[in-house]
Amino acid sequence: MDCLLCGSDQKKIFTRVESFGFPLVYYQCKNCGLIYQSRKESQAANPEFYRRTYRRIYQACEEPTPKDLWVQEQRAQHLNDILRSHLEIFPEKVLDIGASAGILLQQFRNSFGSEVVGVEPGDAYRAYAEESDIEMKESIGALLASEHGKFDLVSMSHVLEHLTEPVEDLKRIKLELLKDGGILLLEVPNFYAHDSYELAHLACYTPHTLREVLKKAGFRLVFLKRHGVPRSKLLNLYLTGVAKVSPEAHGTVEIKNDRFVGLKRNVSMLYRRLMQKISPHKAWLPIPVIDQE
Ligand SMILES: [Zn+2]
Repeated sequence: MDCLLCGSDQKKIFTRVESFGFPLVYYQCKNCGLIYQSRKESQAANPEFYRRTYRRIYQACEEPTPKDLWVQEQRAQHLNDILRSHLEIFPEKVLDIGASAGILLQQFRNSFGSEVVGVEPGDAYRAYAEESDIEMKESIGALLASEHGKFDLVSMSHVLEHLTEPVEDLKRIKLELLKDGGILLLEVPNFYAHDSYELAHLACYTPHTLREVLKKAGFRLVFLKRHGVPRSKLLNLYLTGVAKVSPEAHGTVEIKNDRFVGLKRNVSMLYRRLMQKISPHKAWLPIPVIDQE
C-alpha cells in the first residue's frame, strides 16, 4: 500500500529534491500517476511533526506572522466568493480542518452567519483563533469526542497535500462529519504551476489526481478553479475544488491513470520561467509589508 491515492506499490522515482535541508524522494505511481513521498520515508508522516516542527522550520517561528495572516485573509476572501456562487443556502455549521489562525472561519462567520469550529494542531495558531472567539480543537479525534454533530460545510485549505492517508481521511469526513447534501471545499497547490516539492507535501496534486482522490473517497468534484490568488496574476498556482458526496459511491471505484504528468510538469515550469522573465510583476504579486509592532 504505497500510493496515497490508489494503494499500488508499483512506482518509479520521479525526482530527488532538497527541502529545508532534508533530502526528499518523490515517486510516481505507475498505476494512477500520482506524485508522492513514501509514508515510510517522510519526516512529515510523523504526527508529532505538525505539533513541534512544522511552523518553526517553515516560518522560522511558531506564531502567526503578518505575511502568513495576509495570505490567509486574501485566500479567505477568495474562497468565500467562490462558495457564494455555489451555495443554494448558507451553511449553518462550518468546520475548517487545518484552520490555522482561524481567518477563514472568521470570514464564513461574518459572511454566512455560520456557527464555526476549527481543527488545528499548532498550539500558537489555535490560541490566536481562540482570541477571536472561535471554537478550536486540537485534532479530529477531539472534535468527534465533543459531539458537535455534523456540518453543512467542511473546508480544507492547503491540507490535503499534507495528509498521509488522504482517501481514508476524506472517507471519514464523508461518514462522520458531513451532513447529507453537505459541501466539501478544498484548495491545494497545483503541480502544473506551483513548485510543490516541500518537506511536508506528501502528495503533489494535478487537476486529474485531485478529482480521482475525491472519487476514490466517494466524492464528486462539482467545480474546479485553477488560479493564482493571492500570489500571481499569470500562474495558476492553486486548485480550488467544491465537492459533494457522490450518490453512486458504492462498490469499487476505478481510478484512471493521469497521463503525461512529467511532460505537463516540464511545459508548465517552462511557462512559469518565461512569465517570470517577461512579466515579473504580474507573475509574482507583492505581499504588502506589514509593520510588526
Ligand atoms: Zn496510485
